Amino acid sequence: MSKSTVQLDVRQAMWSRRNVLKASAGVLAGIMGAQWLPSLADELSVPHIVVVGGGFGGATVAKYLKLWGKDTVKVTLIEPNAQFMSPIMSGMVITGQLEADRISFGYDRLRDVHGVTWVQDRVTAIDSVAKTVTLEGTEGAVVEPLAYDRLILSPGIDFVDVPGWDPLKLPHAWGSRAQADLLQAQLNAFPEGGVFVINVPTYPFRCPPGPYERASAVADYLRVKNKNAQVVVLDTQPDIFVENSLFHALYDELGVQYRGNSKITAVNSGQDDGSGRSVTFVTLTRNELGEVTGQSEPETLNAHVINLIPDNKAAPILYAAGLLDANQLWAPIHPLTYRSTVVGKEAIYILGDSIESAQSKAGQMANAQAKVCADAMLRELAGQPIYEHPITTAGGFAALTQTKVNWIGVSYAYDPAANNGAGDMVRTHFASAPEPSEIHWQPMLQWANNLFADTFG
Ligand SMILES: Cc1cc2nc3c(=O)[nH]c(=O)nc-3n(C[C@H](O)[C@H](O)[C@H](O)COP(=O)(O)OP(=O)(O)OC[C@H]3O[C@@H](n4cnc5c(N)ncnc54)[C@H](O)[C@@H]3O)c2cc1C
Repeated sequence: MSKSTVQLDVRQAMWSRRNVLKASAGVLAGIMGAQWLPSLADELSVPHIVVVGGGFGGATVAKYLKLWGKDTVKVTLIEPNAQFMSPIMSGMVITGQLEADRISFGYDRLRDVHGVTWVQDRVTAIDSVAKTVTLEGTEGAVVEPLAYDRLILSPGIDFVDVPGWDPLKLPHAWGSRAQADLLQAQLNAFPEGGVFVINVPTYPFRCPPGPYERASAVADYLRVKNKNAQVVVLDTQPDIFVENSLFHALYDELGVQYRGNSKITAVNSGQDDGSGRSVTFVTLTRNELGEVTGQSEPETLNAHVINLIPDNKAAPILYAAGLLDANQLWAPIHPLTYRSTVVGKEAIYILGDSIESAQSKAGQMANAQAKVCADAMLRELAGQPIYEHPITTAGGFAALTQTKVNWIGVSYAYDPAANNGAGDMVRTHFASAPEPSEIHWQPMLQWANNLFADTFG
């Protein structure tokens, strides 16, 4: 498929009210039955809900709080970037099949159509007693702390540090436009006969099939460019854990070298000209329960381009706010409301990739969680019981090669007995494409358009 045929008409979709309604409808049967409006009539006591992070979770919850709560709530969204480039579909930006602008979104629709106040800034601290957030402000400016009645955080992820890692030389390309641009530039300059290494971090991490998909997409891209490249996948897991046979067959076809149980322990980020890059990794041994029991001596592999995706963890602001301890990776919440379960943080809610939950870390999942959270918050503010049977779903589409697209879908339902009786969402359905195919291109574009429109439109 040529580049020109892979153009997302996101703006068109965003202007279509029909698409917005379509995308939001299937997620949460029962939610729209909430009757919160009459008891929130007093304008003087309109609660101020502050949302931190304008990605999939944050933009959706800000929009739906206003869509459903109307003038009964004041919603402020704090996001430092004027444009959010979606990680979803960003693999096609890296392989030059999609312009980054086509998957980048601002906040004008949230502000102008839905009445969300957008503050372009970064939150640096949270005072859960005074109920204020501190903003970074621009240089020299004094910014007053912003007061909230409820605070919702959807700040994405951070990475566990890898010794020797400079992300400006070894891109993760797992979340920002600058990183996607860097990996694209490195692939454009890929040398004849070069080595490309990508790793699969320790599960759970953002977008579980993502690293496997990227490996095949890059291998095919380099094959089409006649680079005679060697592509190596170093997987911390013992074996591919999403669509195992599909990816093994594809890697065989593309000549990708796959190594399970391979954990990166250090890297050499090399020089600006790309020389001197390498990864050091160990081979893990495990017992019959899959627990790691030992490791080999370290091996070092030289490479021309290294797509390093370190183990993921919750975003820094959550640690700074005491919403998890330094030795934890994910912030605990209750999935009927997304309220933090940390004592003293009852007015704080957390969505998306940073949370501790069985739900997969996916943008469509963050979008669905946002609707559960918005509904529960509006009901709570109105003194009404929350809905106790939410369902969340996520889908993932990805171009595995220059021509073939694959998809998977997963859904979860609330189970009060899960998580040792604390309650969690448990997986109820999983589905996938019968096989990667060109016929999934159009559904992929439509799916993405609907999700983007539902989140930012
Ligand atoms: C290659 C790739 C492919 C993917 N494909 C799919 C897919 O097909 N389907 C799918 O459902 N998901 C997919 N995902 C996953 C999806 O992108 C994430 O799960 C989703 O973005 C998580 O949403 P979030 O709201 O938690 O964080 P994000 O969407 O990352 O948003 C976080 C926002 O918070 C802001 N922020 C952070 N800290 C602060 C602060 N202190 N103050 C103010 N703002 C702050 C950031 O600037 C950012 O805009 C993919 C991911 C990748 C990397």
